[in-house]
Amino acid sequence: RQTQPIRCQSSNQQPAKDDGFVIEDVPHLTDFLSNLPSYPNPLKQSQAYAVVKQTFVVVQKDDPRGVHFRRAGPREKVYFKSDEVRACIVTCGGLCPGINTVIREIVCGLNYMYGVEDILGIEGGYRGFYSKNTLRLTPKVVNDIHKRGGTFLRTSRGGHDTNKIVDNIQDRGINQVYIIGGDGTQKGAALIYKEVEKRGLQVAVAGIPKTIDNDIAVIDKSFGFDTAVEEAQRAINAAHVEVESVENGVGIVKLMGRYSGFIALYATLASRDVDCCLVPESPFYLEGRGGLFEFVEERLKENGHVVIVLAEGAGQEYIAQEMQAVDGKDASGNKLLLDVGLWLTEKIKDHFTKVQKMAINTKYIDPTYMIRAIPSNASDNIYCTLLAQSAVHGAMAGFSGFTVGPVNSRHAYIPISRVTETQNTVNLTDRMWARLLASTNQPSFLEGNELHERVDKEDVDVINHNMRATSI
Ligand code: ATP
Ligand code: MG
Repeated sequence: RQTQPIRCQSSNQQPAKDDGFVIEDVPHLTDFLSNLPSYPNPLKQSQAYAVVKQTFVVVQKDDPRGVHFRRAGPREKVYFKSDEVRACIVTCGGLCPGINTVIREIVCGLNYMYGVEDILGIEGGYRGFYSKNTLRLTPKVVNDIHKRGGTFLRTSRGGHDTNKIVDNIQDRGINQVYIIGGDGTQKGAALIYKEVEKRGLQVAVAGIPKTIDNDIAVIDKSFGFDTAVEEAQRAINAAHVEVESVENGVGIVKLMGRYSGFIALYATLASRDVDCCLVPESPFYLEGRGGLFEFVEERLKENGHVVIVLAEGAGQEYIAQEMQAVDGKDASGNKLLLDVGLWLTEKIKDHFTKVQKMAINTKYIDPTYMIRAIPSNASDNIYCTLLAQSAVHGAMAGFSGFTVGPVNSRHAYIPISRVTETQNTVNLTDRMWARLLASTNQPSFLEGNELHERVDKEDVDVINHNMRATSI
């Protein structure tokens, strides 16, 4: 059925309004082919836990428009017959705990729930489509992969050539494409969907958002995040043990978070060993009253040691002022960041030994690759299973150009373009940041900070108010 032309709607269709709410729906293949049959869902009675009859129940409350998304889950009718399905799975971008679980559960979900047997693994990211590396995936092949870190299908950056990819999808007769990856990957998935739509192919394109930084917009949380926060504890603990064992120990732990400091924030809140957490959203400063040096000195005098956790994207603008800016980009076009951990370690060492004439012991730990490479923990494994099964139900039902994920604790189908519009960042006026400030009692770096132009006066008042309220 893949080669029959269809009339497609754009995934950027104007959202419909219903009782004052906005409904943002995902395209559906049967909408364009109302003359074609849809088949009864072949799910076994025992597996049809809840055929979704209600459609738009997932509300994004923090959006002033009160956006409704289509609820994820099995439908009464499916668009594809099991033996007509030729599915493929691809993984792109950086590693994240849980990718293998998602791959495994897509394969098992397609096979166990819908009897699909023709499933291909595209190896090595997007470029794997046209460099012809494929693998036959069966439940047996993927049985144990969730116990390993990394991605069974391998990954890459760059190499997104929409036309070549869609040519390949068409040539191979693929009619379901599952794409696991971060913000860049989802942008690529949106382009693939557009091209598929333009060519009139009946192909379900499903995105499964992957980002260890938890920076994908709209969805509540991304998979691998819990595992990353848990694993970060080991690095923080190591730093704490090190600095506790020496005189004037200063431990610095750099965690992931290019533009969003969620891992640093949650790892700090979970740990209790962290004195100060630095994130990209909250510029800090070193010298003077309320600065980081003053705080480190106070904690050293008080406790004899201090632990600082910082996200990799923190203080980038500050470093750029002092170091020669690096204009480098990776193969996907992402800006290469300067190593803020090393920079900060040197700055603190210099300040205390040269300026303060005080001997300190600095210990710098960068556990990034250690954290990315581990298999997912129990809660992420369950979460990955839900994402994979939602994606399979959606594609089988004939939805396309969608991303899956929980919104307000309910799993939903979200137009791909919606999750790539913006990035999820730590909100400094939110209670969670206030809780962190109250828990560490670190400076908020709001006074006397020239770089703090992003946070206006009103926000500063809200932060101070929240902090007082949380402390009480
Ligand atoms: P992460 O940032 O979590 O590592 P990511 O998916 O953002 O994951 P990238 O390396 O940025 O990782 O992108 C992954 C793939 O998506 C690459 O193959 C890249 O070519 C492709 N891609 C990135 N940005 C775009 C874009 N704007 N349009 C089309 N394809 C893109
Ligand atoms: Mg990215």
